[in-house]
Amino acid sequence: MDISTDATTNTAKTGKHTTVRTRGSKETPSEATTHARQQSGSGVSQLAPSTSGLLERPRGSEPGKPGDRSQFYFEQHTRLSNTPEGKGRNGARYGRTGVIHTPHGDIHTPAFVPVATQAAMKGVLPETMKELNAQCLLSNAFHLFERPGEDIIDEAGGLARFENWDGPTFTDSGGFQVLSLGAGFKKTLAMDVTGMKSDDVIAKGRERKAFVDEDGVTFKSPLNGNKHRFSAEISMGIQHKIGADIMFAFDELTTLMNTRGYQEQSIERTFRWAKRCIAEHERLTQARLGKPYQALYGVVQGANYEDLRRRAAEQIASLDFDGVGIGGAIEKRLIGDTCAWICDAMPESRPRHVLGIAAVDDIFACVENGGDTFDCVAPARCARNGAIYTRDGRYNIRRAANKRDFGPLEEGCDCYTCTHYTRAYVDHLLRAGEMNGATLATIHNERFFIRLLDDIRASIDGGYFEKLRDETLARYYAHGSKG
Ligand SMILES: [Zn+2]
Repeated sequence: MDISTDATTNTAKTGKHTTVRTRGSKETPSEATTHARQQSGSGVSQLAPSTSGLLERPRGSEPGKPGDRSQFYFEQHTRLSNTPEGKGRNGARYGRTGVIHTPHGDIHTPAFVPVATQAAMKGVLPETMKELNAQCLLSNAFHLFERPGEDIIDEAGGLARFENWDGPTFTDSGGFQVLSLGAGFKKTLAMDVTGMKSDDVIAKGRERKAFVDEDGVTFKSPLNGNKHRFSAEISMGIQHKIGADIMFAFDELTTLMNTRGYQEQSIERTFRWAKRCIAEHERLTQARLGKPYQALYGVVQGANYEDLRRRAAEQIASLDFDGVGIGGAIEKRLIGDTCAWICDAMPESRPRHVLGIAAVDDIFACVENGGDTFDCVAPARCARNGAIYTRDGRYNIRRAANKRDFGPLEEGCDCYTCTHYTRAYVDHLLRAGEMNGATLATIHNERFFIRLLDDIRASIDGGYFEKLRDETLARYYAHGSKG
C-alpha cells in the first residue's frame, strides 16, 4: 500500500523543512507519483497528520530491486588547515564539515548522534528530538535483538518507521554490548588501568558472561540468562533486518587491560570478521529486494597502541566499507591522536564515526582530528540523575540552592525546558520520582550537545574553530567540571 499519512514527510520532500534535513537523493519517478497522490489529498493526512509514513514503503527503496548504493555518500565542505601542532602526517588536521547523504535524509557534520538504545530516547518522543534539531538517532542491535526481535522491526518496515523517526538511523553491531559482558565493564573510554594487567580481568563482583573464539562470541543474555551466539554473519543478519541507514561491522572489543599480544591477535581477528561482514552485507543487500541501501562502517580497534591503530586502520581502509567507526578502549589523553592516526590511512570520502564518546573536551579533540559523527549516552543518562550540562560546566540540580531557584536550568538556553520550566520545578519532579523530571532534564541536556556540535560546525565553516574551542573549554572547565 502506498498511502502516506505523513504531513512531515511531505514537507521534507518539498524542501520546506529546515536546511538541516534536505534530501540527498532525487525522487525516483515512482516516488514522485506517490508524492503527487499524497498531495492531491485522499483526506487521510488530515485525519492523522502526525503518524509518520506508517503505510508508505521505506524511503529510497524500489520494489523488486536491491538497495542502491549511490544513495549513500559523503560530501566534504570545509577542512581545517594544517598546522605544526596537527596530529596527522605532515601536521594534517582532519577536522572538517560536510554532509552524509542517506536514503532517510542528510546529516550535516560534525554532528551529535543521540542514543535511542531500545528504539526510544528514554522519556522523550522523536517529535521532540526533531524540535531539538537532532539529525539522526543511534540504536543498539543487541538490545533490539533481545527484544522485540529483529523480525518484528523488519515487518514494521525498518527502524525509522518502527520508532516514528523521520530521519537517518544508526545501529551498532552488538559487539560492544556482547563483549562488555566478557570483561564485566560497561565503559571503556578513559578507563583507569592503574595496576591492571591480566587478559582475563573481570570487574569486581561481576560474572564473565561472554567468550570469544575465532568464529564469534558466545554469551549469556543479561535479560533472561539464555545462551546466544553472535558472529559477523549473525550481526549482519540482525542489522539488515533492523534496517538502519548506517550499520557497523562486528568487531572484537578489547579493554586497556588486555596484553599487547592479545591486542595484536584481536585486531587480526577483527580484520577477518570485517571481511566476513562485507561478504554477508553484500549478499544480504542483493537478496533483500525492495529495501533502501544500508551503509556499512568498518571498526578500527587497537587500544592505545599507535602502530596497532595504524595497522588496523590500513586493514579497514583496504576493504570496501562505506565509512569507519573508531572504537574500543582509548585513554582520554590519546583520543585526538587516535583519530588522526586512523584518518592518515582513511580515504577522505568515507565518513568517520567515533563510538561512545563522553565529554565536551573529547568532542573537540575528536572533531579537530577528523571525527564526523559522535554518539553519546551521557546527556540522557546524566539527566535522569539530575546532572545538567551548561556552558559553565555540569551541575547537579539536587543542590539545596535549587529548591527555590525559579530561573531556567541554564540562563540563555533556547530549549523547551528552559523556556517553560524552572530549576525548582525540575528538582522537585526528580526528587518525587516523577517521569516528567527526567524528560525535562533530558530535553535540555540533549539540546546542549546538539547545539554544541551545531556551533562547532559553524565555527569550522566560518574559520573560527580554535577561538570557539578555547573559549568553550576555558569556560566549561573553569569551575572544575568533569565530563
Ligand atoms: Zn535548556
